Amino acid sequence: MLKGIYVLMIQVVDDVTLGVGALGNLTFEKGLYLYVGSAQKNLEQRIKRHRRKTKRLFWHIDYLLDCGKAKVTKALYKEADKQEECTVAKMLDGFGVRVDGFGCSDCTCKSHLFLIKSEEELFSDDKDWTPISM
Ligand SMILES: [Zn+2]
Repeated sequence: MLKGIYVLMIQVVDDVTLGVGALGNLTFEKGLYLYVGSAQKNLEQRIKRHRRKTKRLFWHIDYLLDCGKAKVTKALYKEADKQEECTVAKMLDGFGVRVDGFGCSDCTCKSHLFLIKSEEELFSDDKDWTPISM
């Protein structure tokens, strides 16, 4: 059973405005997003959950993935402590445009979701990251 942190690459196929729990209405531009999360137990189950169509909306990411305009195109994981989730979020903040407040209700980050310009090879040189087949 894996535990660690993960990054989802999410394609938003059209501009979309949706309610995201306590964040209220957010508009997502069409484009490619990276989301970082952690699952300190049963990471496989968590990733599967993100892929499922029907589920109760709990995390901010659930709202986005449930809207019909977003799909996970790639997932990577790494065995790591929860703190590293935020280290990665801060690193991604340098690459992309953050969606303020998203996915970071329980930490001090400004966001855990970022709009990126293109699928840059952000992780390909880091052997610690393992692709998860989708
Ligand atoms: Zn954080």
